[in-house]
Amino acid sequence: MNVYDSERMMDALGTSGYVETDTPDDADMILLNTCHIREKAAEKIYSELGRYKPFKLKKPDLKIGVAGCVAQAEGEEIIRRQPMVDLVVGPQAYHRLPEMAEAVGAGVKQVDTDFPEEDKFDHLPIRPKAKRAPTAFLTVQEGCDKFCAFCVVPYTRGAEVSRPVDKIIREANELVERGVVEINLLGQNVNAWHGEKDGAEWGLAQLIRELAKIDALKRIRFTTSHPNDMDDDLIAAHGDVEKLMPYLHLPVQSGSDKILKTMNRKHTAAQYLKLVERIRDVRPDIALSGDFIVGFPGESESDFADTMALCEKVRYAQAYSFKYSPRPGTPAADRSHVDEREKSNRLAQLQELLSQHQMDFQQSMIGKTLPVLLEKPGRMAGQMIGKSAYLHAVHMMAAPELAGTVVQARILWSDKNSLAAEIA
Ligand code: SAH
Ligand code: SF4
Repeated sequence: MNVYDSERMMDALGTSGYVETDTPDDADMILLNTCHIREKAAEKIYSELGRYKPFKLKKPDLKIGVAGCVAQAEGEEIIRRQPMVDLVVGPQAYHRLPEMAEAVGAGVKQVDTDFPEEDKFDHLPIRPKAKRAPTAFLTVQEGCDKFCAFCVVPYTRGAEVSRPVDKIIREANELVERGVVEINLLGQNVNAWHGEKDGAEWGLAQLIRELAKIDALKRIRFTTSHPNDMDDDLIAAHGDVEKLMPYLHLPVQSGSDKILKTMNRKHTAAQYLKLVERIRDVRPDIALSGDFIVGFPGESESDFADTMALCEKVRYAQAYSFKYSPRPGTPAADRSHVDEREKSNRLAQLQELLSQHQMDFQQSMIGKTLPVLLEKPGRMAGQMIGKSAYLHAVHMMAAPELAGTVVQARILWSDKNSLAAEIA
């Protein structure tokens, strides 16, 4: 979502005459987009700001801003800790960037972490003619009302809000006109998206079916989903919407019912496994990915063993796993914590298992011919890189003009995180 938001910020500032640059030396403004989900991510921002200090000393007119969820959570505190910062803007206020940029240009520091009443997306312009990469993100939902005990999202991104159907369809069409062939629908709880059209209630599946009618749009994905919001229609869509890719990010966080309960996830491990079974019934080859937190307060050896056992049952194609990081203001932050060494130990065990499963899945592709959407040049001369339907990165020798097209690729071998192929 921060990638999407960064693009929107550049669009907004584009209307004030700003253009992108690749080097801080050229910049009149440096805007850091930030993440507050774990402590490490949040702390990184201060060392990053330190890196830009010499640029500000060299060019006193340079403006430095902090955007994103660290800006939202810490507000003015950022300027107290790092006085060279001129601008602090939370994710709900990006539409105000042009006027904020003007004010900092006149030497007035700006902090905006308000949650506005109006739809911020309404005011975020899109640079019209700019040609786009073949794949794009499109935010359809923001915020969250679920209040998992470990998570800052409901506090930094605010309450769950769905964008209206018509605006989403319009933005999708605009993206497609600019060369996009794959859209990844985004939301902190994307499958809680709901809308209304011609008096009828719509869920995410219906939105996907409508988007699938856009001829030049070849692939649709969505992320991130909460298990409790996977309704029947969305499961069915995985079986009957051809453009919907067979890949689903469905975080479970833990395999222990006790921990799931204290996390406030509101489902059991068995219910999650049942859901996985239902999805695989309609789409047997679907690649599942997940998120895990190890060392959540109260997690015993046997709770952790339940997580390992759940992974053995699901066999994720890919997964993200993290040590629990206490976040100020969340309910779990005040609970008694698992020993740090124990956390590291469990994380290493889990990651070994997850990467084994990822490797097994990648190797099962060798010898198969898969449709691959080519996206951009690879590291080697003459090489192109793209994505399989299962979201593998696939590289092969191919002409650069093929970017944005789906080719049939024979998979030759598997590296750690990608597949090597040749055009079939
Ligand atoms: N809405 C999604 C998750 C969004 S946050 C869901 O409900 O699954 C992305 C991931 O960050 C989470 O799935 C979780 O695994 C991780 N995460 C969030 N808060 C965390 C914390 N305090 N410590 C460690 N990992 C955390
Ligand atoms: Fe955070 Fe996801 Fe839970 Fe919402 S559902 S509180 S975003 S982990």
